[in-house]
Amino acid sequence: MIRIAIDGPSGSGKSTLAKAVAKKLGIVYVDTGALYRTVGYHVYLNGRDPHSAEQVESLLSGINIELKYENGSQRVILNGEDLGDKIRMPEMSMYASAVSAIPAVRAFLLEMQKKMARENSVVMDGRDIGTVIIPDADLKIFLTASNETRAKRRTIELQSKGIDASYDDVLFDMIERDKNDKNRDIAPAIPADDAIIFDNSDMSVEESLNEIVRLVNERK
Ligand code: C5P
Repeated sequence: MIRIAIDGPSGSGKSTLAKAVAKKLGIVYVDTGALYRTVGYHVYLNGRDPHSAEQVESLLSGINIELKYENGSQRVILNGEDLGDKIRMPEMSMYASAVSAIPAVRAFLLEMQKKMARENSVVMDGRDIGTVIIPDADLKIFLTASNETRAKRRTIELQSKGIDASYDDVLFDMIERDKNDKNRDIAPAIPADDAIIFDNSDMSVEESLNEIVRLVNERK
């Protein structure tokens, strides 16, 4: 069993790299941000305020999330519906960030994530994987990149999915979201004490992948 935690802010390249590492090592890639996006999406569908702990908590008992893995990518099924890219809309990023600061939401999603990491060799990406979900991970990476690089990457990613996004809006939303994620009281998006801080602003995906695989091999 090998368990790798990759945390970091949006656009730092977590999902691209985590997916590539999982493929290379033949293990499961778990995108935990999708879980918070799913809760956010359900709150949005029900017309509730994502900042209101009371309103969000009252919806949790009506949420059933399943994760499916096909050809290395993760699909999220909410109450029987495959959500596809619906949770990728920029608006859902803000909903996810708002609901993720509510302790009951984090508690609701906690066991599901811990179970995945207990039963499988995984690469998990998120904000609290190294600090909360897999505190004893074999390798913890906190991925960062400059604001400009991250906003550029996210704009390209959204546009490639056919989602209308301008660089300026993406940059603004990203800075706002990072601030919420870093400063919340519960499971703030900060590196674990034993995480390797990895700035990949000036690196290609291939260079970053090689570096992570090197770090994994060092620990085997
Ligand atoms: O990674 P992604 O951008 O999809 O995550 C969406 C939001 O979900 C983040 O902005 C963060 O607020 C929240 N999140 C979290 N803990 C995680 C993963 C994501 O709080 N492990």
